[in-house]
Amino acid sequence: MVNGQWSMVNGQCSMVNVQWSMEERYDAVIRYFQAAMPEASTELHFENPFQLLVAVMLSAQCTDKRVNIVTPALFEAFPSAEVMAEATPEAVYEYVSSVSYPNSKARHLVEMARMLVRDFGSQVPQTMEELVRLPGVGRKTANVVLGVAFNEATMPVDTHVFRVSHRLGLVTDKARTPLAVEQTLVRHIPEELLSRAHHWLILHGRYVCTAIKPHCMECGLRECCKFYNMPSKAAKNPSKAAKNNKKS
Ligand code: SF4
Repeated sequence: MVNGQWSMVNGQCSMVNVQWSMEERYDAVIRYFQAAMPEASTELHFENPFQLLVAVMLSAQCTDKRVNIVTPALFEAFPSAEVMAEATPEAVYEYVSSVSYPNSKARHLVEMARMLVRDFGSQVPQTMEELVRLPGVGRKTANVVLGVAFNEATMPVDTHVFRVSHRLGLVTDKARTPLAVEQTLVRHIPEELLSRAHHWLILHGRYVCTAIKPHCMECGLRECCKFYNMPSKAAKNPSKAAKNNKKS
């Protein structure tokens, strides 16, 4: 139980000498992000669900910035599932060689496009069950597509979401897998805020709560952050636990 009241002071969530209950921590974090980042969205560039799916597949263990550099030429050469399905992995590789794991990603893109054409009428499917059938598409990628392209209430958990959720104390130490973190976040965050909350946590992890050296002195969540307020922060390193699945 909490022993005080939280409030916003100069953009900081603020509460003194308290132990936060899970509900109060979520309340503080959501209020902070609603004020600080009301319009959060993906940084990937895309114009339709097929392009988003391709971009998200390329972004696994790669930066959105790098993906946005390669996708304009890639989308021009392969504007649809039908066109990409006719290509060879070698041809696609020429466009994605500067992203991480280009060989396997080029192969997965072509195989994914072929399955879209063969099994889904060349359209990106709109269910988790169908999306994860696609080569190279795991639960996280499917959740991003469902949330961003189709406005479903989803919480994709990547390395940033995993790390920030642990550091803030939005999940317990028992949540050791992306799925466990996803299920806890979905339980606590109102459905209408889930998609935006996903972007809040990603952007916070990308630019403020970075893996190696989090910028705590620039962070508006210091007072309610479990990691920041630990007696010995060095004793715990949640980022180590954030291991991406190969099939993300
Ligand atoms: S206070 Fe530090 S560890 Fe906590 S969320 Fe902010 S940047 Fe991350």
